[in-house]
Amino acid sequence: MENCLFCKIIRGEIPSTRVYEDDKTYAFRDIAPMAPTHVLVVPKAHIADCSAVTPENSGIVAHIFEVIPGIAKAEGLENGYRVVSNCGPDAGQTVQHLHFHILGGKPLTLEMA
Ligand code: 5GP
Ligand code: ZN
Repeated sequence: MENCLFCKIIRGEIPSTRVYEDDKTYAFRDIAPMAPTHVLVVPKAHIADCSAVTPENSGIVAHIFEVIPGIAKAEGLENGYRVVSNCGPDAGQTVQHLHFHILGGKPLTLEMA
């Protein structure tokens, strides 16, 4: 996707602080952290949001959840963490590329960090 912010980050056209990368996923620090640790994990292939997950592309979601524990461990989140994905306007989604927030490093309230 030419003009997608996270596609540009994945392509390296916009700088980011990489936390984890493999052939299918990229994880980087959120530019406006809402917790001491705030990492975004995204599929390298463009998927707009949770509503665009299908039987054909859902394998990447499973893969992301397979790598999240390792990212959390590397970030020192042994006391727990939250995984959040905002979908659509009512959820406050601002970037239309599927992403999972990993939040932790302090006791989190029930609001989005
Ligand atoms: P959403 O609101 O769509 O669930 O999450 C989008 C997230 O992307 C926000 O937490 C926001 O701070 C983050 N973000 C927006 N632009 C950039 C950017 O250029 N670089 C990084 N690292 N994060 C960004
Ligand atoms: Zn994208």
